[in-house]
Amino acid sequence: MTQTVRRPLVISPHLDDAVFSCGALLAASPGAIVCTIFAGTPREPLSTDWDRQCGFDNAQEAMPARHAEDIAALQMLDARAVHLTFLDSQYLHGNADHTSDIATAIREVMRENDHDSLLIPLGLFHSDHALVHAAARDTCLSDAPMACIAYEDGLYRRMNGLVQMRLVDLAQRGIEATPRVDPSGPPDSARLQHCFEAKQRAVQCYASQLRAFGPNGYDDVLAPERFWTLRVSDRRA
Ligand SMILES: [Zn+2]
Repeated sequence: MTQTVRRPLVISPHLDDAVFSCGALLAASPGAIVCTIFAGTPREPLSTDWDRQCGFDNAQEAMPARHAEDIAALQMLDARAVHLTFLDSQYLHGNADHTSDIATAIREVMRENDHDSLLIPLGLFHSDHALVHAAARDTCLSDAPMACIAYEDGLYRRMNGLVQMRLVDLAQRGIEATPRVDPSGPPDSARLQHCFEAKQRAVQCYASQLRAFGPNGYDDVLAPERFWTLRVSDRRA
């Protein structure tokens, strides 16, 4: 089902996650802002396995090309890109926990951009996704007078038990996760088809990433998108 939300701000860990995970929602919700956290370019010309699989010699080549892919994809969906400068974990040695810096940056983006709803990743599998989930979730649930909607991370949600583990983690933190049903009701089939086709076209903009995933490695991004509304539980234990 293709959901609609009014003026969404979508928080994306990497330069593809928002479109892979909620491209149809973006197509149905023109005027969205997509803020990508790990869009920074390292100072040194680092060369990683992933970037080489994507066809790049080093990060200096990869990141500008990936910015351009993201901008092209979001233009197709009538959305606007905001690129923050935190470094993808593939460019870091060891674990850098910048949860509080990321939370501060998200708060800033929320202040500067007019929006009615916030979408965050469920934060599955990848350490960068988990980091962004934690930072965005706590910022939204503590500061924002609006619904906090979590999207299932495209590709990773297919891995056994990961969605379930996150739901258990949320429950243990006293946060309820409820499947989100579009309040505007099921879209008509013509609109559904339009949104799905727009997403398909936008996904193709991320050519470098699709090359690394391989021709059958990204089927999940064209499957129905799923969302959860998060709220702090007021149930008594
Ligand atoms: Zn990612």
